[in-house]
Amino acid sequence: MQQWQIELQNCVRTVDELEQYLSIENKDRVREVLANMRLSITPHTLNLIDFKNPNDPILLMCVPSDKELRFSPEERVDPIGDEAKSPIPFLTHRYPDRVLVYATFFCSLFCRFCFRRTKTGEATPGPSVEDRDRIVQYLEKHPEVDEVILTGGDPLTLLDDQLEDWFSRLRSVPTVSRIRVHTRVPVNLPSRITNSLIEMFRRYSDATHPIYIVTHFNHPREIAAENIEAIAKLVDAGIVVRNQGPLLRGVNDDPVILEMLFKKLANIRVVPYYLHQLDLAKGTNHFRVPIERGIEIMRELQGQVTGIALPRYVVDLPGGKGKVPLMHRYTQKQTDSNYTIESPFGECVEYHEPND
Ligand SMILES: *Cc1c(COP(=O)(O)O)cnc(C)c1O
Repeated sequence: MQQWQIELQNCVRTVDELEQYLSIENKDRVREVLANMRLSITPHTLNLIDFKNPNDPILLMCVPSDKELRFSPEERVDPIGDEAKSPIPFLTHRYPDRVLVYATFFCSLFCRFCFRRTKTGEATPGPSVEDRDRIVQYLEKHPEVDEVILTGGDPLTLLDDQLEDWFSRLRSVPTVSRIRVHTRVPVNLPSRITNSLIEMFRRYSDATHPIYIVTHFNHPREIAAENIEAIAKLVDAGIVVRNQGPLLRGVNDDPVILEMLFKKLANIRVVPYYLHQLDLAKGTNHFRVPIERGIEIMRELQGQVTGIALPRYVVDLPGGKGKVPLMHRYTQKQTDSNYTIESPFGECVEYHEPND
Protein backbone atom coordinates (compact mmCIF):
# COMPACT_ATOMS: atom_id res chain seq x y z
CA MET A 1 0.00 0.00 0.00
CA GLN A 2 1.23 3.49 -0.80
CA GLN A 3 1.96 6.14 1.82
CA TRP A 4 -1.08 8.22 0.89
CA GLN A 5 -3.40 5.23 1.30
CA ILE A 6 -2.00 4.57 4.75
CA GLU A 7 -2.60 8.23 5.60
CA LEU A 8 -6.17 7.92 4.33
CA GLN A 9 -6.68 4.94 6.63
CA ASN A 10 -5.36 6.99 9.54
CA CYS A 11 -7.72 9.93 9.20
CA VAL A 12 -9.63 11.09 12.26
CA ARG A 13 -13.21 9.99 11.62
CA THR A 14 -15.00 9.94 14.98
CA VAL A 15 -15.71 12.22 17.92
CA ASP A 16 -13.85 9.81 20.19
CA GLU A 17 -10.69 10.06 18.12
CA LEU A 18 -11.02 13.85 18.00
CA GLU A 19 -11.14 13.96 21.78
CA GLN A 20 -7.50 12.93 21.91
CA TYR A 21 -6.72 16.41 20.56
CA LEU A 22 -9.33 18.73 22.02
CA SER A 23 -12.25 18.72 24.40
CA ILE A 24 -15.55 18.76 22.60
CA GLU A 25 -18.44 20.75 24.00
CA ASN A 26 -22.00 19.62 23.31
CA LYS A 27 -20.76 16.20 22.35
CA ASP A 28 -24.22 14.76 21.80
CA ARG A 29 -25.08 17.52 19.39
CA VAL A 30 -21.79 17.07 17.51
CA ARG A 31 -22.66 13.37 17.23
CA GLU A 32 -26.00 14.44 15.81
CA VAL A 33 -24.14 16.50 13.18
CA LEU A 34 -22.12 13.43 12.27
CA ALA A 35 -25.27 11.33 11.85
CA ASN A 36 -25.78 13.18 8.56
CA MET A 37 -22.43 14.69 7.63
CA ARG A 38 -19.13 12.87 7.43
CA LEU A 39 -16.00 13.69 9.42
CA SER A 40 -12.48 13.06 8.15
CA ILE A 41 -9.27 14.92 8.93
CA THR A 42 -6.07 13.75 7.28
CA PRO A 43 -2.90 13.33 9.39
CA HIS A 44 -1.25 16.10 7.34
CA THR A 45 -3.95 18.65 8.15
CA LEU A 46 -4.30 17.45 11.74
CA ASN A 47 -0.63 18.39 12.20
CA LEU A 48 -1.25 21.94 11.03
CA ILE A 49 -4.01 22.61 13.57
CA ASP A 50 -3.19 24.65 16.66
CA PHE A 51 -5.46 22.83 19.11
CA LYS A 52 -4.71 25.38 21.86
CA ASN A 53 -6.60 27.98 19.84
CA PRO A 54 -10.33 27.21 19.57
CA ASN A 55 -10.53 29.74 16.71
CA ASP A 56 -7.65 28.29 14.74
CA PRO A 57 -8.67 28.76 11.09
CA ILE A 58 -7.65 25.25 10.04
CA LEU A 59 -9.53 23.78 13.00
CA LEU A 60 -12.66 25.74 12.09
CA MET A 61 -12.58 24.33 8.55
CA CYS A 62 -12.47 20.65 9.54
CA VAL A 63 -13.60 20.08 13.17
CA PRO A 64 -17.38 19.65 13.34
CA SER A 65 -19.43 22.06 15.42
CA ASP A 66 -22.97 21.95 16.77
CA LYS A 67 -23.53 25.20 14.85
CA GLU A 68 -23.98 22.94 11.81
CA LEU A 69 -27.35 21.95 13.24
CA ARG A 70 -28.65 25.50 12.81
CA PHE A 71 -30.36 25.85 9.47
CA SER A 72 -31.57 29.12 8.05
CA PRO A 73 -34.56 29.10 5.67
CA GLU A 74 -32.43 30.32 2.74
CA GLU A 75 -30.18 27.28 2.96
CA ARG A 76 -30.72 24.36 0.58
CA VAL A 77 -29.74 20.73 0.15
CA ASP A 78 -28.66 21.43 -3.46
CA PRO A 79 -27.56 25.08 -3.14
CA ILE A 80 -26.31 25.63 -6.70
CA GLY A 81 -28.76 23.41 -8.54
CA ASP A 82 -26.41 20.59 -9.61
CA GLU A 83 -29.48 18.35 -9.94
CA ALA A 84 -31.50 20.86 -11.95
CA LYS A 85 -28.98 20.72 -14.80
CA SER A 86 -28.17 17.03 -14.74
CA PRO A 87 -29.26 15.35 -18.04
CA ILE A 88 -27.78 11.95 -17.05
CA PRO A 89 -26.55 10.62 -13.68
CA PHE A 90 -23.19 11.91 -12.43
CA LEU A 91 -23.00 14.75 -14.96
CA THR A 92 -24.05 18.42 -14.72
CA HIS A 93 -24.25 20.47 -17.91
CA ARG A 94 -24.97 24.10 -17.10
CA TYR A 95 -22.67 26.01 -19.45
CA PRO A 96 -22.41 25.19 -23.16
CA ASP A 97 -18.71 24.34 -23.36
CA ARG A 98 -18.03 22.42 -20.15
CA VAL A 99 -19.56 19.74 -17.94
CA LEU A 100 -19.04 18.56 -14.40
CA VAL A 101 -18.54 14.82 -13.92
CA TYR A 102 -18.77 13.36 -10.43
CA ALA A 103 -16.04 10.72 -10.32
CA THR A 104 -16.55 9.80 -6.64
CA PHE A 105 -18.24 11.31 -3.61
CA PHE A 106 -15.38 10.38 -1.30
CA CYS A 107 -12.99 13.03 0.06
CA SER A 108 -9.80 12.83 2.10
CA LEU A 109 -11.11 15.58 4.36
CA PHE A 110 -14.70 16.74 4.69
CA CYS A 111 -14.90 20.54 4.86
CA ARG A 112 -17.41 21.82 7.40
CA PHE A 113 -18.76 24.33 4.85
CA CYS A 114 -18.99 21.96 1.86
CA PHE A 115 -21.75 22.85 -0.63
CA ARG A 116 -22.18 19.17 -1.53
CA ARG A 117 -22.08 18.11 2.10
CA THR A 118 -25.28 16.12 1.93
CA LYS A 119 -23.89 13.98 -0.91
CA THR A 120 -20.23 13.50 -0.06
CA GLY A 121 -19.03 10.50 1.86
CA GLU A 122 -18.37 6.83 1.35
CA ALA A 123 -22.11 6.05 1.57
CA THR A 124 -22.92 7.62 -1.81
CA PRO A 125 -21.88 5.25 -4.60
CA GLY A 126 -19.87 6.65 -7.50
CA PRO A 127 -20.57 6.01 -11.19
CA SER A 128 -20.69 2.39 -12.34
CA VAL A 129 -19.18 1.14 -15.63
CA GLU A 130 -22.59 1.71 -17.28
CA ASP A 131 -22.72 5.26 -15.91
CA ARG A 132 -19.22 5.92 -17.24
CA ASP A 133 -20.15 4.51 -20.67
CA ARG A 134 -23.20 6.77 -20.72
CA ILE A 135 -21.05 9.81 -19.86
CA VAL A 136 -18.74 9.09 -22.81
CA GLN A 137 -21.77 8.66 -25.11
CA TYR A 138 -23.11 12.01 -23.87
CA LEU A 139 -19.81 13.72 -24.68
CA GLU A 140 -19.77 12.13 -28.14
CA LYS A 141 -23.25 13.50 -28.79
CA HIS A 142 -22.26 16.96 -27.48
CA PRO A 143 -19.19 18.10 -29.41
CA GLU A 144 -19.74 21.64 -28.09
CA VAL A 145 -18.39 20.36 -24.76
CA ASP A 146 -14.61 20.80 -25.04
CA GLU A 147 -13.84 20.64 -21.33
CA VAL A 148 -14.64 18.01 -18.71
CA ILE A 149 -14.31 18.86 -15.06
CA LEU A 150 -13.76 15.81 -12.88
CA THR A 151 -15.16 16.66 -9.50
CA GLY A 152 -16.97 14.94 -6.63
CA GLY A 153 -16.05 14.35 -3.85
CA ASP A 154 -12.39 14.38 -4.66
CA PRO A 155 -11.35 12.55 -7.85
CA LEU A 156 -7.75 12.25 -6.67
CA THR A 157 -8.83 9.95 -3.83
CA LEU A 158 -9.47 7.32 -6.55
CA LEU A 159 -6.78 4.71 -7.12
CA ASP A 160 -4.40 5.20 -10.04
CA ASP A 161 -6.12 2.62 -12.27
CA GLN A 162 -9.56 4.07 -11.54
CA LEU A 163 -8.26 7.51 -12.52
CA GLU A 164 -6.57 6.07 -15.57
CA ASP A 165 -9.94 4.63 -16.63
CA TRP A 166 -11.41 8.15 -16.53
CA PHE A 167 -8.52 9.71 -18.41
CA SER A 168 -8.50 7.08 -21.16
CA ARG A 169 -12.28 7.33 -21.60
CA LEU A 170 -12.19 11.14 -21.75
CA ARG A 171 -9.24 11.17 -24.15
CA SER A 172 -11.15 8.78 -26.43
CA VAL A 173 -13.51 11.70 -27.19
CA PRO A 174 -11.66 13.90 -29.71
CA THR A 175 -13.79 16.99 -29.02
CA VAL A 176 -12.69 17.10 -25.37
CA SER A 177 -9.58 19.30 -25.32
CA ARG A 178 -9.22 20.13 -21.66
CA ILE A 179 -9.54 17.88 -18.64
CA ARG A 180 -9.85 19.70 -15.39
CA VAL A 181 -9.61 18.07 -11.97
CA HIS A 182 -11.15 19.76 -8.95
CA THR A 183 -9.33 18.48 -5.88
CA ARG A 184 -8.34 19.35 -2.33
CA VAL A 185 -5.76 16.57 -2.22
CA PRO A 186 -2.78 18.96 -2.76
CA VAL A 187 -3.99 20.75 0.39
CA ASN A 188 -4.99 17.90 2.70
CA LEU A 189 -3.21 14.84 1.33
CA PRO A 190 -0.14 16.08 -0.56
CA SER A 191 1.48 12.61 -0.44
CA ARG A 192 -1.16 11.57 -3.03
CA ILE A 193 0.81 13.52 -5.65
CA THR A 194 3.07 10.53 -6.32
CA ASN A 195 5.52 10.09 -9.17
CA SER A 196 3.22 7.50 -10.74
CA LEU A 197 0.30 9.95 -10.66
CA ILE A 198 2.49 12.60 -12.31
CA GLU A 199 3.51 10.07 -14.97
CA MET A 200 -0.14 9.35 -15.66
CA PHE A 201 -0.92 13.06 -16.02
CA ARG A 202 1.95 13.28 -18.50
CA ARG A 203 0.58 10.35 -20.52
CA TYR A 204 -2.87 11.92 -20.79
CA SER A 205 -1.85 15.49 -21.66
CA ASP A 206 0.09 17.15 -24.43
CA ALA A 207 0.68 20.62 -25.88
CA THR A 208 -2.94 21.01 -27.01
CA HIS A 209 -4.71 18.63 -24.61
CA PRO A 210 -3.87 20.04 -21.21
CA ILE A 211 -4.78 18.89 -17.75
CA TYR A 212 -5.77 21.66 -15.38
CA ILE A 213 -5.98 21.23 -11.65
CA VAL A 214 -8.14 23.55 -9.62
CA THR A 215 -7.29 23.15 -5.99
CA HIS A 216 -8.66 24.68 -2.82
CA PHE A 217 -6.39 26.50 -0.35
CA ASN A 218 -8.30 28.88 1.95
CA HIS A 219 -5.66 30.06 4.38
CA PRO A 220 -1.92 30.83 4.05
CA ARG A 221 -1.11 28.38 6.85
CA GLU A 222 -2.39 25.53 4.71
CA ILE A 223 0.63 26.03 2.45
CA ALA A 224 3.26 23.90 4.23
CA ALA A 225 6.48 22.32 2.90
CA GLU A 226 4.71 19.10 1.75
CA ASN A 227 2.10 21.13 -0.11
CA ILE A 228 4.75 23.23 -1.84
CA GLU A 229 6.49 20.04 -2.93
CA ALA A 230 3.26 18.51 -4.28
CA ILE A 231 2.40 21.66 -6.25
CA ALA A 232 5.93 21.89 -7.66
CA LYS A 233 5.67 18.33 -8.99
CA LEU A 234 2.39 19.13 -10.73
CA VAL A 235 3.54 22.41 -12.25
CA ASP A 236 6.88 20.93 -13.32
CA ALA A 237 4.89 18.26 -15.19
CA GLY A 238 3.18 20.97 -17.24
CA ILE A 239 -0.10 21.00 -15.35
CA VAL A 240 -1.73 24.37 -14.86
CA VAL A 241 -2.76 24.71 -11.22
CA ARG A 242 -5.32 27.28 -10.15
CA ASN A 243 -7.03 27.87 -6.81
CA GLN A 244 -10.61 28.47 -5.75
CA GLY A 245 -12.25 28.57 -2.38
CA PRO A 246 -14.90 30.39 -0.40
CA LEU A 247 -14.72 33.50 1.70
CA LEU A 248 -15.17 32.13 5.22
CA ARG A 249 -16.02 33.99 8.40
CA GLY A 250 -13.25 33.65 10.97
CA VAL A 251 -10.96 31.92 8.48
CA ASN A 252 -10.06 34.29 5.66
CA ASP A 253 -12.49 37.24 5.78
CA ASP A 254 -9.63 39.66 6.20
CA PRO A 255 -7.73 41.48 3.44
CA VAL A 256 -4.38 40.89 5.20
CA ILE A 257 -4.93 37.11 5.35
CA LEU A 258 -6.21 36.97 1.77
CA GLU A 259 -3.26 39.00 0.49
CA MET A 260 -0.91 36.53 2.20
CA LEU A 261 -2.84 33.59 0.76
CA PHE A 262 -2.94 34.93 -2.80
CA LYS A 263 0.74 35.90 -2.80
CA LYS A 264 1.89 32.63 -1.30
CA LEU A 265 -0.12 30.85 -4.00
CA ALA A 266 1.38 33.00 -6.75
CA ASN A 267 4.85 32.26 -5.35
CA ILE A 268 4.30 28.51 -5.68
CA ARG A 269 2.88 28.94 -9.22
CA VAL A 270 -0.75 28.45 -8.29
CA VAL A 271 -2.92 31.08 -9.95
CA PRO A 272 -5.75 32.38 -7.73
CA TYR A 273 -8.90 31.79 -9.79
CA TYR A 274 -12.11 32.30 -7.81
CA LEU A 275 -12.94 33.55 -4.36
CA HIS A 276 -16.48 32.25 -3.85
CA GLN A 277 -19.32 33.74 -1.91
CA LEU A 278 -20.21 30.77 0.29
CA ASP A 279 -23.01 28.71 -1.24
CA LEU A 280 -26.26 28.41 0.70
CA ALA A 281 -25.64 24.85 1.93
CA LYS A 282 -27.51 23.65 5.00
CA GLY A 283 -25.86 24.37 8.34
CA THR A 284 -23.13 26.67 7.03
CA ASN A 285 -24.51 30.03 8.11
CA HIS A 286 -21.85 30.53 10.79
CA PHE A 287 -19.24 30.69 8.00
CA ARG A 288 -21.11 33.18 5.84
CA VAL A 289 -19.69 36.67 5.14
CA PRO A 290 -22.08 39.36 3.82
CA ILE A 291 -21.61 40.06 0.09
CA GLU A 292 -21.10 43.74 0.88
CA ARG A 293 -18.09 42.88 3.06
CA GLY A 294 -16.70 40.56 0.39
CA ILE A 295 -16.91 43.32 -2.21
CA GLU A 296 -15.21 45.72 0.18
CA ILE A 297 -12.36 43.29 0.85
CA MET A 298 -11.75 42.79 -2.87
CA ARG A 299 -11.83 46.56 -3.37
CA GLU A 300 -9.10 46.93 -0.75
CA LEU A 301 -6.96 44.33 -2.52
CA GLN A 302 -7.40 45.87 -5.98
CA GLY A 303 -4.31 47.95 -6.73
CA GLN A 304 -2.70 46.73 -3.53
CA VAL A 305 -1.94 43.22 -4.74
CA THR A 306 -0.28 42.18 -8.00
CA GLY A 307 -2.88 41.42 -10.65
CA ILE A 308 -1.55 37.91 -11.28
CA ALA A 309 -2.46 36.96 -7.70
CA LEU A 310 -5.96 38.47 -7.66
CA PRO A 311 -8.90 36.08 -8.13
CA ARG A 312 -12.41 37.03 -9.15
CA TYR A 313 -14.98 37.16 -6.36
CA VAL A 314 -18.03 35.21 -7.60
CA VAL A 315 -21.39 33.92 -6.46
CA ASP A 316 -22.97 30.74 -7.77
CA LEU A 317 -26.66 31.59 -7.96
CA PRO A 318 -29.24 29.30 -6.34
CA GLY A 319 -31.26 26.99 -8.55
CA GLY A 320 -28.52 26.30 -11.08
CA LYS A 321 -28.66 29.81 -12.52
CA GLY A 322 -24.87 30.09 -12.83
CA LYS A 323 -21.81 31.98 -11.54
CA VAL A 324 -21.40 35.74 -11.79
CA PRO A 325 -18.69 38.12 -10.57
CA LEU A 326 -19.38 40.37 -7.59
CA MET A 327 -17.57 43.66 -7.80
CA HIS A 328 -17.47 47.17 -6.51
CA ARG A 329 -19.03 49.51 -9.04
CA TYR A 330 -16.11 51.61 -10.23
CA THR A 331 -17.85 53.15 -13.24
CA GLN A 332 -20.60 55.76 -13.34
CA LYS A 333 -21.88 56.83 -16.73
CA GLN A 334 -22.54 60.58 -16.76
CA THR A 335 -23.50 61.24 -20.37
CA ASP A 336 -23.17 59.21 -23.58
CA SER A 337 -19.40 59.65 -23.67
CA ASN A 338 -18.54 60.78 -20.14
CA TYR A 339 -17.78 58.51 -17.23
CA THR A 340 -16.64 59.04 -13.70
CA ILE A 341 -14.43 56.14 -12.75
CA GLU A 342 -13.00 55.51 -9.34
CA SER A 343 -9.27 54.81 -9.14
CA PRO A 344 -7.89 51.95 -7.02
CA PHE A 345 -6.78 54.65 -4.57
CA GLY A 346 -10.28 56.12 -4.19
CA GLU A 347 -9.99 59.15 -6.46
CA CYS A 348 -12.78 60.01 -8.87
CA VAL A 349 -11.42 60.36 -12.39
CA GLU A 350 -13.22 61.76 -15.43
CA TYR A 351 -12.97 59.60 -18.51
CA HIS A 352 -14.14 60.97 -21.85
CA GLU A 353 -14.65 58.64 -24.76
CA PRO A 354 -13.66 60.08 -28.12
CA ASN A 355 -16.74 60.85 -30.22
CA ASP A 356 -15.78 58.63 -33.15
C1 LIG B 1 -18.76 26.18 -11.50
C2 LIG B 1 -19.21 25.29 -12.55
C3 LIG B 1 -18.45 25.07 -13.71
C4 LIG B 1 -17.09 25.69 -13.91
O1 LIG B 1 -17.21 27.04 -14.20
P1 LIG B 1 -15.91 27.91 -14.49
O2 LIG B 1 -16.41 29.31 -14.44
O3 LIG B 1 -15.42 27.51 -15.85
O4 LIG B 1 -14.91 27.59 -13.44
C5 LIG B 1 -18.95 24.26 -14.69
N1 LIG B 1 -20.15 23.65 -14.55
C6 LIG B 1 -20.91 23.84 -13.47
C7 LIG B 1 -22.22 23.15 -13.39
C8 LIG B 1 -20.45 24.66 -12.42
O5 LIG B 1 -21.21 24.81 -11.33
